[in-house]
Amino acid sequence: MSIEIEIFADEIICPIDFNNNTRNILGICCFFIPVNTKQEIVNQLLRKRCINSDNLKWNYEFDACLNKTNCKESWHKSNDCEIHNQNIRSSRASNSLKTISKKWIKYFIEKNRAEKSIRFNILFIELDKMDISKFGESKIHENMYNKFFRTVINYGVKSFFNNSKVLVKNVYHDKGSMEKHAYFPYLNLYKLNDEIPEVAIFENKDIIFVDSNHKNYVPHKKEYYSESHLIQFVDLILGNISQCLFNLSNDNLKKENATLLHPLVERLINKSRDYYSSWHYTDRQNISLFPKSEGNNFKNKCFDLNGNLVDDFIKEFHKDKTLKMPFYNPEQESLSKFF
Ligand SMILES: [Zn+2]
Repeated sequence: MSIEIEIFADEIICPIDFNNNTRNILGICCFFIPVNTKQEIVNQLLRKRCINSDNLKWNYEFDACLNKTNCKESWHKSNDCEIHNQNIRSSRASNSLKTISKKWIKYFIEKNRAEKSIRFNILFIELDKMDISKFGESKIHENMYNKFFRTVINYGVKSFFNNSKVLVKNVYHDKGSMEKHAYFPYLNLYKLNDEIPEVAIFENKDIIFVDSNHKNYVPHKKEYYSESHLIQFVDLILGNISQCLFNLSNDNLKKENATLLHPLVERLINKSRDYYSSWHYTDRQNISLFPKSEGNNFKNKCFDLNGNLVDDFIKEFHKDKTLKMPFYNPEQESLSKFF
């Protein structure tokens, strides 16, 4: 018997220093969700949109709001917002965005605590350490992304399911630059299916691109409504983990949200194998960085003529990193403003 899963993927391409526009970090994140838990996760995410957190169900139409006596149409509409990490900034985020993003991160952490942690694999490629001109003259980031995407999936299906065979029903990816890439949408899953047949079978070999704004699927094109929420969830978690590691923004709200994930990120980096941890991340969650050494010609070292990764590159994955964002305490901040 194989385990049926779906994969939800998102990318982040950003500068380390927000005053500087060099796009020097490329992050790839995949969530590996067993099909039989998917709807429960989506329901929980939806539920967190309601002002009354005791309500078990969220209806996007105000008329069907279970909390209608205490809700207002304008609040209800506002709570139906897209959760997009980039927009979570003190100065511009709506109350809905602030509240729901926090609830989602807390839910993510509760899942770890309840031993049903959401399986994910994240790879950060530090472009400053590489001679990226070797990856083509145009679309360098996209070409690099394409090369590393398969390794992120490969590691997850091999490591997160107790050596059971995995049947990957679908792979969903946030709409973005990769949708237009010459062969990213069509070739990667075919290649993986050929490379690791003993580990995973990829049923649908085309990557499905999903709009992270779920409103584009309501009410007429409902097919990816649930998936759109999961893509938002991946975006939120990837954004906050990136913030912990690289301190990408000095915005207080961003720091506040990322601080919630700080203890988990710290463990995943500094103590990645701990079967006794109450966070239950071992063999379920992973963060790694690439490359370890600097300045080598990774193109020749790591890829063969067909663009496949070769053994030598494995040594270059590492977790040798200190979290750049210190723990942030908003209460302390307001005190220091006061004095
Ligand atoms: Zn409502």
